[in-house]
Amino acid sequence: MASSSALPRERAREAALAHAVDEGLLGPGSPLVGLLDVDGVLAAVNALKEAFEGPATVHHTFAAKACGLVPVLRLLAEAGMGCEVASPGELEQALAAGFSPGRLVFDSPAKTVGELEFALDHGVAVNVDNFQELERVDRLLAGREPAGPVGLRVNPQVGAGAIGAMSTATATSKFGVPLRDPGAVDAVIDAFARRPWLNRLHAHVGSQGCPLPLIAQGIGAAYALAERINHQLGHARITGLDIGGGLPVNFGGEDDRPTYADYVAELRRATPGLFDGRYTLVTEFGRSLLAKSGTIGSVVEYTKSAGGRRIAVTHAGAQVATRTVFMPDAWPLRVGVFDPAGRPKEGPHQVVDIAGPCCFAGDLTATARELPAIGPGDVVALYDTGAYYFSSHFSYNSLPRPAVYGYRTDASGRVRLALIREAQTVREVVEESGLSHADALVALCADGPGQGPSR
Ligand SMILES: *Cc1c(COP(=O)(O)O)cnc(C)c1O
Repeated sequence: MASSSALPRERAREAALAHAVDEGLLGPGSPLVGLLDVDGVLAAVNALKEAFEGPATVHHTFAAKACGLVPVLRLLAEAGMGCEVASPGELEQALAAGFSPGRLVFDSPAKTVGELEFALDHGVAVNVDNFQELERVDRLLAGREPAGPVGLRVNPQVGAGAIGAMSTATATSKFGVPLRDPGAVDAVIDAFARRPWLNRLHAHVGSQGCPLPLIAQGIGAAYALAERINHQLGHARITGLDIGGGLPVNFGGEDDRPTYADYVAELRRATPGLFDGRYTLVTEFGRSLLAKSGTIGSVVEYTKSAGGRRIAVTHAGAQVATRTVFMPDAWPLRVGVFDPAGRPKEGPHQVVDIAGPCCFAGDLTATARELPAIGPGDVVALYDTGAYYFSSHFSYNSLPRPAVYGYRTDASGRVRLALIREAQTVREVVEESGLSHADALVALCADGPGQGPSR
């Protein structure tokens, strides 16, 4: 589907920003926009598929939480991906995008009875998180076979990467059955011995900040356990290994590093048997498929100086760059500066902080950056924001969700845009804020015990 004549990613992004400004999609009346490079997304999918080519059957799923926008999910479905979902909303988004239940993997750590019933009846693959959940599944099945594969998530407890909040395989992680706890391996083997329908193991070691050897070590532990279970049960009960996602993204530069090929090479080195075809492999990549194809564009509303510190006030802050604002050292973003026509700015650099619109002092997307001098009306772009940024809105200050457009380019520089998500209107913000219950509290005070509000 990807055309080979698309511009290189950097030039495509510049062309798309300029086009968005020309079209009035980014400008005074519309100061914030999300842009997604469709050719870039499809290239990432192809790189993923190529890296895993081999004798083993592989089901690649996209982790919906990284970008749960229905047109994006549909594009990925068309490109042959499955989808990993972890909430009722993500499940419905994936179904609306056209994934059949058999192409879904359901991973929430807090699955309700209703969610489990749906998954077990419709052939959604389920990764059970813990022994209580396994007993719940026993009760729901009541002797029936589940319609799809059922796995058990294990925590290999291999430790943390550079970002604690992104590390799911620590000794005390909330996810999965902790394999190194006393008696845990025997309990897992026993759980498989008692349940003929339990046929997968799942391990997701972590996301951004986890080095490849750590991820490979965790997956290796799940593989070793699968081998042991199959040996002990005397047959190949475990037929699938879900190895999770978590390939780190290079937020510091333009190149894709590490690549999916690097990841697979590391896994092959650590666990050669993983790829020999005895196990169906399932992957669940999110960030690495989308991040580098996304850009947030914002108009600079004002520039100012305070105590010698230069500040550019934009419309992109914690509402679209939540992690970067709250954990700036863990989630730095590259910043580009463009003139009011959307053309790259040149000229002498100045040290500047890039601020967002939210009313707290820490609402900064970059600090002390050397950038071309910024003035009001310029455009600031936040790069590599295709996953977990404009798609993971935080409604601080009741700021509306921005519009998101997908773009494709051709070799001549022509840009075509498609609306992925409309901007939320201020009216919608108010409606979602309990507007239809506007009288509720005043009414409660009017006829309850004690006094009503006095003026
Ligand atoms: C978040 C998550 C993923 C995707 O992680 P990325 O770092 O975005 O690749 C995959 N599997 C599970 C279980 C997750 O929670």
